[in-house]
Amino acid sequence: MTPATIAVLGGGYAGILAARRVAAALGPLGRVTLYADRDHFVERIRLHQVAAGQLVRTIPLPRLLGGAALEVARVVALDPAARAVITDRGRRTPDFVIHALGSRTARAIPGAAHALALDDPDGAAAVAAAAGRAVAQGRPLAIVGGGLTAIELATELADAHPTLRLTLITRGALGDGALGAAGLAHVRAALARRAVEVREGQGVAAIEPDAIEVDGARLAVAATVLCAGFAASPLAAAADLAVDRLGRMLLTPTLSAAGAGWLWGAGDAAVPAAPVGAPLHMACKTAMPMAACAADNVVAAVTGAAPTPFRFGDSGVCVSLGRTDGVIQRRAPGGDNRGVTRGRLGAWLKEGVCRFTVLALRRPGSQRVFRVYARRGAAALAASTDLALPAAP
Ligand SMILES: Cc1cc2nc3c(=O)[nH]c(=O)nc-3n(C[C@H](O)[C@H](O)[C@H](O)COP(=O)(O)OP(=O)(O)OC[C@H]3O[C@@H](n4cnc5c(N)ncnc54)[C@H](O)[C@@H]3O)c2cc1C
Repeated sequence: MTPATIAVLGGGYAGILAARRVAAALGPLGRVTLYADRDHFVERIRLHQVAAGQLVRTIPLPRLLGGAALEVARVVALDPAARAVITDRGRRTPDFVIHALGSRTARAIPGAAHALALDDPDGAAAVAAAAGRAVAQGRPLAIVGGGLTAIELATELADAHPTLRLTLITRGALGDGALGAAGLAHVRAALARRAVEVREGQGVAAIEPDAIEVDGARLAVAATVLCAGFAASPLAAAADLAVDRLGRMLLTPTLSAAGAGWLWGAGDAAVPAAPVGAPLHMACKTAMPMAACAADNVVAAVTGAAPTPFRFGDSGVCVSLGRTDGVIQRRAPGGDNRGVTRGRLGAWLKEGVCRFTVLALRRPGSQRVFRVYARRGAAALAASTDLALPAAP
């Protein structure tokens, strides 16, 4: 029997996990190729550490791929009509595709091209250089956004440069609703201790190379770092595939693109159209279980087995506040906030979560934890469906 050909697009958390998992399950029944724009894996969740001048390792992709092959190439388009993937090294027509091209910082604000962002190691290095310049010039560095990435960057930079003047500006509220009252109070105290100026409920209308416009006033800055959310890879929208407002390719419950028997999605680049048990934010904790499910369903498509619907139950979020402080916000499977762990233990647990993401790529056995997410999601979904049912007469 001719082996099925499977192309996995994107060498991030979702792509690597999916490629390795499909290759291991299919063995000689499949030929899996990962398409990545670089030959090494970047721990994206540590880029704020890189911006603070810390050394973060990169791992050569072949070491993580198991039985999958690597083609270093930039994917430039999807061609659904021809079931093809166009790369800068040529056109490929595999039997199955998993789209895991991830996301980048959303650049919706006018003048956003002048801002720096933590999209890759070069972006993080540029933030590091800008922080050094801001200290030398005695001018503030602006961080636009108030979510967890903005908080992690502000605390890490403040610890690396105690004299750096940092202003964090967010249109919404600090934490973007990800933390309960106790966790948020801890974060506020951590920022205040580091003299980070926090401006909430203030929209940035425009970004210039050395200034930003906030609520009608011009604020002179050494540089601006954008941390105001992610936008999915633009390739699905460009191919006229159905996407949500963040550009994520819309998926069926079994993670294939609606109407396409050959295209699957996972990670920041895609999202199921129907509820799965808890809200799916762009995050490793959702990207990796999605990739495992998409991989299993591609294997099912090749072997003729039944696909499994993706279910996800939340367990919480974690945010580092420098290297010795952090907050773990625990959540009920459906997403309601529960207790928090703070301080050194919070930092230690967050570091453990970061290490786990790489362990789950290196040692597929550790991916068993994703089954717990799936069970929690199925239970949360069943409970919400029960609530939605009309009362018995
Ligand atoms: C500073 C920071 C901290 C974060 N902290 C956390 C955290 O604590 N917990 C958490 O859950 N999430 C966190 N996130 C979010 C997390 O990093 C993403 O949700 C996660 O990386 C998504 O994984 P992915 O594989 O879908 O996409 P990515 O990790 O973005 O991987 C996509 C890959 O595809 C490649 N690619 C993109 N376009 C192309 C193309 N056209 N051709 C070829 N290759 C391409 C990219 O280079 C990348 O290697 C953080 C993000 C940042 C920036």
